[in-house]
Amino acid sequence: MISAGVVRARLATQMPPGGKSILPSVLIIGGGLVDITAAGALTSRGYQVELVATQSSEQNQLLEQLQEKDVIVKTWPDALQLEGSPGDYEVMLEYGSQVDRIPTGAVLVNMEELNKGASPLLNTTFNSGLLGRIMARTGSSGYLSGVGDDLLREITIKETGGIFLVPPDGAELPEDQVLHGLAVAARVSTYLDQASLSPRVMAVDIDSKLCRGCGDCADICPYIEMRKNANGTVYAYIDKTLCLGCGACIASCPAGAITQPLQSDKQIVHTLRSMLRRGQVLSEV
Ligand code: SF4
Ligand code: SF4
Repeated sequence: MISAGVVRARLATQMPPGGKSILPSVLIIGGGLVDITAAGALTSRGYQVELVATQSSEQNQLLEQLQEKDVIVKTWPDALQLEGSPGDYEVMLEYGSQVDRIPTGAVLVNMEELNKGASPLLNTTFNSGLLGRIMARTGSSGYLSGVGDDLLREITIKETGGIFLVPPDGAELPEDQVLHGLAVAARVSTYLDQASLSPRVMAVDIDSKLCRGCGDCADICPYIEMRKNANGTVYAYIDKTLCLGCGACIASCPAGAITQPLQSDKQIVHTLRSMLRRGQVLSEV
């Protein structure tokens, strides 16, 4: 607890003016050795760690040791929902009519634990919201499907606004799983150590006035949220701290509402090709 306070104080002094702070805490979903190792490493770094694990976990003794290190271990909920925005999420664990609300800066989801045989984890509902949109597109392999290659690669190797998916790596030996857990902890720790978030320079802009609310971009990208304004008009919204800037959504927009101020050469060529396919000639482009 004291070390967590020290981390918070250190992060507070690093906060740039106008920055959005990241809560110095992580919620880990999955009770395998990878998760337990990551939880131990992150709590040792002074972060507040909560771990959601099945009661039938084979790792009960290790879970008890984690609790002695101030890690809070939760039983598996009936449903789980993520609200809030990057840096400041609230995870709601629903146990029947009871709801346990956990504020957290990062969420780590172990896909292997989630997809284990007849595990009760499979009964969990990832309701609507960012995590729901991500989970709805995530196959048992732990990789997103139905998104552009560039975006898929980005998501797989990086974090997504503090949401970390841990794909199965086939490691059977305990020492390999421990190494995997340490690698995951390093990734989460690097994210939390930033202390604050700023809009990414490669993030796209979505002009809500041009947007027709068709939802095509949201079909491509789980980070785009369809919202409704006071008049009932539906429009697409992207949190710029979340957008990875892959550019996959731009060509999908029939209204030209999505723009990206800074693109890679490959992205510009891709956009030009899609514009030419729509019948425009090079001089118009
Ligand atoms: S560029 Fe578009 S598709 Fe790529 S992450 Fe950002 S919003 Fe999603
Ligand atoms: S594809 Fe374009 S018009 Fe359709 S919802 Fe997205 S931004 Fe709006």
